[in-house]
Amino acid sequence: TERTLVLIKPDGVARRFVGDILARVERKGLSISALEMRTADVDVAGKHYAEHAERSFYPGLLNFITSGPLVAAVVEGPRAIAAFRQIAGGTDPVEKAVPGTIRGDLALDGQQNLVHGSDSVESAEREIALWFPHLARG
Ligand code: ATP
Repeated sequence: TERTLVLIKPDGVARRFVGDILARVERKGLSISALEMRTADVDVAGKHYAEHAERSFYPGLLNFITSGPLVAAVVEGPRAIAAFRQIAGGTDPVEKAVPGTIRGDLALDGQQNLVHGSDSVESAEREIALWFPHLARG
């Protein structure tokens, strides 16, 4: 089994898609093993997106991610990292995400694209330690 860090970003909460998105996770066969609604502060958001610190969209991204409550979750299951990214769809909800995915069905914007899912085992462990320190391993 594998675990991944999922965020339902503030647009997903504001648009009342928390239940829809969590239902899609469960319908895929993945398990939710930690779940919390909170508003991210700039410190956590900045560390979460540290790999994008030099990108032009980084300040706007931090502003968006800290703009209101989000839902953070640890999702577990066989190949959970790839499985969640499959049901999320590609980063650009129109050019990349296909119908049937969270972004393909429900989003239009390249930044306000509803969800985040870790992209590797290393990212997942780093992000779980950031959002759920009590669940950090090693
Ligand atoms: P996430 O990390 O949220 O799952 P991702 O792995 O699909 O998304 P990344 O390339 O890591 O995509 O970008 C992280 C997030 O930054 C995107 O989900 C999106 O919210 C935002 N983002 C990415 N590219 C742009 C851009 N060109 N303009 C504005 N925001 C962007």
